[in-house]
Amino acid sequence: MPSESIFGDLTRDDLRELSADAIALMPLGATEQHGRQLPASTDSMIATHLAERSAQLVSEQVQVVLCPALPFGFSEHHLPFGATISLDNDTYIRALTSIGRSLSRSGFKRLIFLNGHGGNVAPGAAAADRLVTELELDLAVAVLSYWECIDDVVRAGFSMPSPGHAGSFEASLISALDADLVRPYGADTQEVLDDAARPLNVSDHLLGTTRLPNMWPASDGVTDAPAEPDPKFGSQLLDALSAAIAEYIRNFDAATR
Ligand SMILES: [Zn+2]
Repeated sequence: MPSESIFGDLTRDDLRELSADAIALMPLGATEQHGRQLPASTDSMIATHLAERSAQLVSEQVQVVLCPALPFGFSEHHLPFGATISLDNDTYIRALTSIGRSLSRSGFKRLIFLNGHGGNVAPGAAAADRLVTELELDLAVAVLSYWECIDDVVRAGFSMPSPGHAGSFEASLISALDADLVRPYGADTQEVLDDAARPLNVSDHLLGTTRLPNMWPASDGVTDAPAEPDPKFGSQLLDALSAAIAEYIRNFDAATR
């Protein structure tokens, strides 16, 4: 019976046995400023948690090998704010390509990058194109940003704010994962939060595909004003997202067998 396995815990013999049939699942994180309320590892924490949870949920049906999370992503637009370690675009595409090539050489034929950071979307797609279309590796590659599953979550009856960056959405998720890492919200911190509340002034559509000079520097590096985090909402959201990602993994498994 399949089960989830952790890449780093396995020997080369274990992995040789698993790799031909298993799906390699790698969380893609970022180390970047998340305003004044949230830690720099926010995106890595969320992607890692969702990868672990969804791998557990499918463990009876699909063999998943959970790979170590990549803690750095394409975060150049956050460099002006500090607290950011970024790989430039070319480096990040090449890093993902090298990871895919290595997994292919190790016998894997299926790979899902589970992404937790908006800046990784475009280079992630470029790396997938390079691996599959240009290098013609015998490797099925998916780059799934966890918020792409939000439609499923909303259809399941969940109302949800836009994910954004370092706003109330991520604050709720992090408060559910480790409340100590969210800077306290209250009357005594209102002044600090007010000062930080200079959100990015663009719609989600522009945030996704359009690059405007000075878009980020004109803001305080957050997409919506800090708010009191809601750990209960965050926890329900993590449950719903994990279930939606598990369903995605089942579909990917069926499509790539
Ligand atoms: Zn984030």
